[in-house]
Amino acid sequence: MRMNNFLLQLSAIVLHVLCVCESFKWRIPIGAIFDTEDIQINTGFTYAVAHSNERTKGKFNLSALIEETDVEDSFKLATSICSHLFSGVFVLLGSHSFHSHGIIKSYTNKFAMPYFTTSIPTGVTDGNHGYEIYMKPPVTEALRDMILEYEVKDVHYVYESDAGLIKLQELLKILNGTDVKVRWHRLHDVTNAHEDLRKLDRVYSGFKNSTILMDFNSEPAYDKVLEQIRKLGMNKRGYKYILGTLNILNLNLQRFTHGGVNITGFQLLDYSAPNVMEFLSRWRSLPPRVWKEAGRDQISVDAALAVDAVTVVRRTIQSMLRNNTEVFRTTFRRGDVYNNNRTRGIPCNDGNPWMHGNAIINNIKQIDPRGLTGHLEFNENGMRKGYKLDVFKVGLKHGPYKIGIWKPKDGFQLISNLNESHNDSTLGVETIRVTSILEKPFLMLKKAPKDGVPLVGNSKYEGFCADFIYSIASKCGFTYDLRPNKNGVYGKKFDNNTWNGMIGELIAKEADLAAAPLTITMEREEAVDFSKPFMNTGISIMIKKPEKQKPGVFSFMKPFSISLWMCIVIGYFVVSFGIFLVSRFSPTEWKRIKMRTGTEYLNKFTLKSSLWFSMGSLMLQGSDTCPRSAAGRIIGGTWWLAVLIVISSYTANLAAFLTIERLLTPISSADDLANHPDMSYGTLDSGSTQDFFKKSNVHTYKIMWNFMKNHYPSVFVKTSAEGVKRVRRSKGKYAFLLESVYNEYFMNQEPCDTMQVAQNLNSKGYGIATPKGSKLRQKLSIAVLQLIEDGTLIKLKKKWWVDKGTCGASDSHGGSKKKSLSLSNVAGVFFILIGGLVMAIVLGVANFLRSKSKGRLGGVPIINNDAARSLLSDYRDAPLNNENGQTTSSDVHQSVPVKGILMNTCKLNSGENSNNSNHTIRSEIYGNIYNRKTLHDR
Ligand code: GLU
Repeated sequence: MRMNNFLLQLSAIVLHVLCVCESFKWRIPIGAIFDTEDIQINTGFTYAVAHSNERTKGKFNLSALIEETDVEDSFKLATSICSHLFSGVFVLLGSHSFHSHGIIKSYTNKFAMPYFTTSIPTGVTDGNHGYEIYMKPPVTEALRDMILEYEVKDVHYVYESDAGLIKLQELLKILNGTDVKVRWHRLHDVTNAHEDLRKLDRVYSGFKNSTILMDFNSEPAYDKVLEQIRKLGMNKRGYKYILGTLNILNLNLQRFTHGGVNITGFQLLDYSAPNVMEFLSRWRSLPPRVWKEAGRDQISVDAALAVDAVTVVRRTIQSMLRNNTEVFRTTFRRGDVYNNNRTRGIPCNDGNPWMHGNAIINNIKQIDPRGLTGHLEFNENGMRKGYKLDVFKVGLKHGPYKIGIWKPKDGFQLISNLNESHNDSTLGVETIRVTSILEKPFLMLKKAPKDGVPLVGNSKYEGFCADFIYSIASKCGFTYDLRPNKNGVYGKKFDNNTWNGMIGELIAKEADLAAAPLTITMEREEAVDFSKPFMNTGISIMIKKPEKQKPGVFSFMKPFSISLWMCIVIGYFVVSFGIFLVSRFSPTEWKRIKMRTGTEYLNKFTLKSSLWFSMGSLMLQGSDTCPRSAAGRIIGGTWWLAVLIVISSYTANLAAFLTIERLLTPISSADDLANHPDMSYGTLDSGSTQDFFKKSNVHTYKIMWNFMKNHYPSVFVKTSAEGVKRVRRSKGKYAFLLESVYNEYFMNQEPCDTMQVAQNLNSKGYGIATPKGSKLRQKLSIAVLQLIEDGTLIKLKKKWWVDKGTCGASDSHGGSKKKSLSLSNVAGVFFILIGGLVMAIVLGVANFLRSKSKGRLGGVPIINNDAARSLLSDYRDAPLNNENGQTTSSDVHQSVPVKGILMNTCKLNSGENSNNSNHTIRSEIYGNIYNRKTLHDR
């Protein structure tokens, strides 16, 4: 007890110390000012702060202070800034509008407050050493290089806001000295820009070799305008667009893959970079109810930049602490931030600059951490340097594919010529042609939606592979076009070394990868490349579930075999006869009774009473006659022992036999199937299962292959669904050899009448296949392993196999299930009871009729009072035998022997029933009938 108290106290102290240590951590506030519409940026920032604190165990914790306001409103903006300064924020973060730029700049300059912004750099000129840190890299130079690379002579610059005008200014400046002419078109409302776009179209058509350069503030603005462009038919061959976005992969460009339009743009976030993949796997799993606009496969550039800003702040503070551990010694007092050891926070009315402002801004410019958007390196003006932009192009039949990269210093490094059509589909990040197979539950056509809008592209499909390739594509950062194999064939090698099915498609370069339940085999591995396996399986046997055997009405007989029942019956008769016999010979079983007429000898063990004794023992009811002789008792004892064992064994087995519905499967192994006289079996045509039997050297499988070959093509099926249908219709005469994952799926589908028998015949795995030498292979393998490790594949398997299953758990396993007893289980017992009752009634009625005809009712003579009295007086002195064989006499309750039947006479109720003409003597008939020689002889 004491020890326990001590331990409790000790742990309380330790906890306290830990808490105190934790509270010693400095809380470094970061102030953020977001517009009410900046939801994803807000979420990205908050999540990054929370995650950074979780991950880094240092001397400080970051703390997010967020003000949501209308950034267009200068007064509100100024109030928010002052509120943050008063709270003692170390740095500020926000996206400012073009108009608010001046206000922010004046505050940050006055108070030496570092300000991170996700907006485009505006009005930054060399030598302007402000406190702004521009997270977004400038794109103007990249646009200029692209215009020059395309050799465009006329540029139609399309913009939507004043910020666009600033960029246009910069563009004009840097294009100065070239022969490029720039015309500009402002869209007044991006959601309804038809008119403006029509005008643009008219102007654009008048020029040869011109390009439309679109530069908008947000990703939704691009999507809206692109949609209107499609509707206006400006997505045909001859139209060229350059997009000023930094996140071309987030735009829906699938709708531009058919008309021959040429679209080029940039991508800042490298979806294939390990740190981006790691972040996105966390981002994807965030619940959107808590983390608004998170829980997606993609993140907007601005949100990613907010995340990177937090990384920069954390690394800056770390670096300052590394340089001087005492740097913040006077800054913190009782958890509050003090400026110059004088004021709490940085009050706007005080006018004193932030004491660490300059140190922080200088440190930011010295570090180079890696973020989601690449190297987070800044120049003197707070602008990004050392970043790179991937260049993407949307080609005919393909979504965006990477054509090169652009770096501020090096300019373009193109993988393929800008004007070349895309033909090597496995370079970098691009739209990949994905082949697959329409097999349940891997890939299925979605049902048409109720609103009548037809499904297009990848959204037409659902299933494990649809979800799987979606996750893989987001991990590897490519877009894809899912087109199932037209013939629904996996891939079989012919004698002339050609392949059909998906393998054939890959070899012919008609597809870039196969995301399907494609088994990795040695022969296929020689023809194509496989990723690491994403699912394990093996060949299994599917049969129709046999009908369950219901216990019959006489199933209570089942616990014992017929021979055992026979033994019990024989034993019963032998024991009865044995007891009868030994009782005859044993003097102890004979009783002497003195009667008026002489001495009589009685033996209770007649043949009938012996049978009754054995029956009573067998039914555990006992009997009123028990053997008295030693020999009789030995027989009785041994019979009781036997009965005890027999009845206990019976009881123990009974419940199981009455309640279990049994499944008697016709086969339980491949050998059973191979030797079954009238069951046929087959596999999928052109699949790896067929190939396995063809090549196997195992004796049983060879026999099976010979059987299948001899029954070619009848035993083979085109699809797994066809094989399953055949099993269901064959009334148990056809077994389907298929991979266990299919077997598991169909077993769990209505009408729940198939089952898997025996263990898997082999073990193998499914992999993503690519043409030989594809650069995608490595990426795919890494993505597959990531999906396995983060549990995505387990979740997908559960979704398509278990959650979509329609059979109950016990049904799906084909096992037996316990349930309560029904009448049908034990009806036989009641039949016997009814039989016994009917027999007894028939016997009773027969006895009654016989006795009545002789003047007696039920064996009791019908007598009046006088007759009864005379009868009594006649027998008053007659000797009566008691249990001990002694004789007694009494005037009431006497045993009166009448014609071999010993009766208890009762008091005559003559007094009370004197009016009755006939009085009956009520009597009880003893079960044991005495063997009375004298009476019989009478
Ligand atoms: N997964 C198999 C293949 O890749 C098809 C199914 C089967 O043969 O049972 O060929």
